[in-house]
Amino acid sequence: NHISGFVSIMRGCNNFCTYCIVPYTRGRERSRDVESILNEVADLVAKGYKEVTLLGQNVNSYKGEDAEGRRWDFSDLIYRINAIDGLQRIRFMTSHPKDLSDELIEVMKHSRKICRHLHLPLQSGSSRILNLMNRKYTKEQYLTLAAKIKEAIPDISLTTDIIVGFPGETDEDFEQTLRLVQDTRFDLLFTFLYSPRTGTPAASYEDNASPQDKQRRFERLLKTQDDIVAEKQAAYQGKTLRLLVDGAAKGPDYPYTARTEGNLLVCVRGENIQIGEFIQAEIEKTSLRCLFAVKK
Ligand code: SF4
Repeated sequence: NHISGFVSIMRGCNNFCTYCIVPYTRGRERSRDVESILNEVADLVAKGYKEVTLLGQNVNSYKGEDAEGRRWDFSDLIYRINAIDGLQRIRFMTSHPKDLSDELIEVMKHSRKICRHLHLPLQSGSSRILNLMNRKYTKEQYLTLAAKIKEAIPDISLTTDIIVGFPGETDEDFEQTLRLVQDTRFDLLFTFLYSPRTGTPAASYEDNASPQDKQRRFERLLKTQDDIVAEKQAAYQGKTLRLLVDGAAKGPDYPYTARTEGNLLVCVRGENIQIGEFIQAEIEKTSLRCLFAVKK
């Protein structure tokens, strides 16, 4: 849309989560060199892009090199991208919880360009299942990290992925996931019903739960999260937010789409709205999937 650009900063993955085929199909992590990324972002800004999303399977383990042979980690890279004139919003994904550094939290805390949004895949609220998944963190470590992020950046929007029905998941494991979701109150949840990928270790794990049990768990999780999202969305009513208008909406009443810093979808109405501009808009009503706002 010439407003939001995507810049790949690395390829591959070294993590070998037991359900995932990526390390086998895309190989080991390879980080792009620093200058080529900075040049690509500067080029997008020169073309009028307002926002970039830095992409990688695990951006937190970025290890690039500059022309002088110095090593850069992800917080170094994002600090430099933050300094590019004319760029207004920076997003990135995906972050592996085990590699998210204190330095990155610091850079995010002090930047007004890096969006207050972090997609931090959890996958399960049971440390036993996390171990079977080879995620390399426990439930307690994830919760400690989430608390540290929220303390440093209180207005952060925290989103996550959860896999339901991983082989060996018991009712008790699932209840732990549900409790963690209820306590953490994620802003958005991407929920997946486990399906085996041929060639991955988990595809040969013993699995005792029936498809009906898994479907029941899945629906309970969706319902729990929908209730949380409905409450969170309703709390936006009457608030004024800074939005980036990024396209045309389907309905005539709110003819434009826009995104909040936390990446929520907003349908907008009002006078003289231009696609690509930042506006202040007041939230008039809310639904589960979208906010509705009028330009101020
Ligand atoms: Fe890597 Fe993500 Fe796949 Fe794990 S789930 S192996 S971190 S790409």
